[in-house]
Amino acid sequence: MKNMLIGDQWVSASDGRTLSVVSPSDGRAFDEIPRGTAQDVDRAVQAARTSLTGAWGQLNASERGRIMMRIAQKVLDHEEELAQIEAKDTGKPMTTARNDIKVLARYFEFYAGGADKLHGETIPFLNGHQVSLLREPLGVTAHIIPWNYPAQMLGRTLAPALAMGNGTVLKPAEDTSLSAIRFAELALEAGLPAGALNIVTGLGEEVGAALSGHPGIDFISFTGSNEVGTLIQQAAAKNAVKCVLELGGKSPQIVFDDVDVERAVPIIVRAIVQNAGQTCTAGSRLLVQRSIYDSFVAKVAEAFAKVRVGTPEMDLDCGPVMNPAQHQRVQRYIDQAREQGIPVLAEGQIAADAPATGHFVKPTLFGPVPRTAALACEEVFGPVLAAMPFEDEADAIALANGTEYGLLAAVWTENAGRLHRVAKSVKAGQVFMNCYGAGGGVELPFGGTKRSGHGREKGFLALEEVSTTKTLVHYHG
Ligand code: ADP
Repeated sequence: MKNMLIGDQWVSASDGRTLSVVSPSDGRAFDEIPRGTAQDVDRAVQAARTSLTGAWGQLNASERGRIMMRIAQKVLDHEEELAQIEAKDTGKPMTTARNDIKVLARYFEFYAGGADKLHGETIPFLNGHQVSLLREPLGVTAHIIPWNYPAQMLGRTLAPALAMGNGTVLKPAEDTSLSAIRFAELALEAGLPAGALNIVTGLGEEVGAALSGHPGIDFISFTGSNEVGTLIQQAAAKNAVKCVLELGGKSPQIVFDDVDVERAVPIIVRAIVQNAGQTCTAGSRLLVQRSIYDSFVAKVAEAFAKVRVGTPEMDLDCGPVMNPAQHQRVQRYIDQAREQGIPVLAEGQIAADAPATGHFVKPTLFGPVPRTAALACEEVFGPVLAAMPFEDEADAIALANGTEYGLLAAVWTENAGRLHRVAKSVKAGQVFMNCYGAGGGVELPFGGTKRSGHGREKGFLALEEVSTTKTLVHYHG
């Protein structure tokens, strides 16, 4: 049984209720977390507010940075332990979990260094006046994160907020709260003052709704589904607070006929298979120029058929999907595509000794997928890749931009002019050229356009999102 962190207290839910923690690998409950309440959220927001005038608020920027660097070191010192926790909670392969913990540490390192480097500016104004811009924290920041990359997500959202001196309240996903709880213990050991970080575990419609609608918060960062993203934005509107939303994606891999095939194929397969496709930035659409469509897709199919799925300990290409609801959802997309007669080009394999009670799905490559099919437009959030042919550059751009989403895209061609033309025309927050992948790039501003959300995380732009300015106008004569 775990507790959650409010101020400097490790507490159970105000009404004592709990939620089971279930392993995606075998469907068995192995721990419990508090099922937080609106009252717990209220106390956490108050603790965060109090921290702003307490020990945390009195630190200068470089002192905050030093504590954050110590947190990063603590995470690295406990990498294996945290990776074990993460793998058990999410089902992901141990290698992936270890990488996620390294990325968590990297977020704290990067923003530790950034804490004292977002300078204000001076502005030329009327004679006799000196104008300067002061950079300030927003106040109490709320952070609601999903279950796909629990450790990475908490690093991504909390590190910039702490670097800027905010008091934070984190609501981890109900399926995956364990790494956040252990992380918070380590952060306190590293010297993070009480109240700077509060964690309230529990259900989205209870803790998440209470937190996003709380009148005492100044900012919401949310990563998750479009449906909940809309609710978050409505809650933010009621309190007139800013929100950063990272929602879904249906990211295209745009492959032209002069692609470097040997380089592209393994990266394209990995971009949809990693984390069992439960990645907002998964490259879930494979758009290939018609002249090489058959030969290129055959190569992808060959590699796809070698994908192996298993438990964290088996450490294969990917693990199970998160929970029964996600299992059914992904399987439904696969079954419907088959019923519609969309050809299956390749399937990965589930390890023979993977527990029958685990949430395993076979990675599947479909193609050619009709442009109007659900698989061509909707986010599956599973290891399912939709291949589609296109005619020329203009058609590729139209097809790439033909969904409601705009998170990531990749362009594959050896023609530099085409590479840049297409990259500039594609609607996405990040475009990769002859490469793919955002997960580890903590330095790279990241976020969506269209229904993939708004606001930026990662890089220095994240520091601007979680801070504000005050313009000081001084008449000196
Ligand atoms: P997913 O489909 O990946 O589970 P969700 O958007 O449902 O995505 O969940 C992402 C996060 O949002 C989780 O922490 C979840 O608990 C939280 N959440 C779910 N419903 C709400 C809600 N009504 N208000 C605020 N947060 C919510």
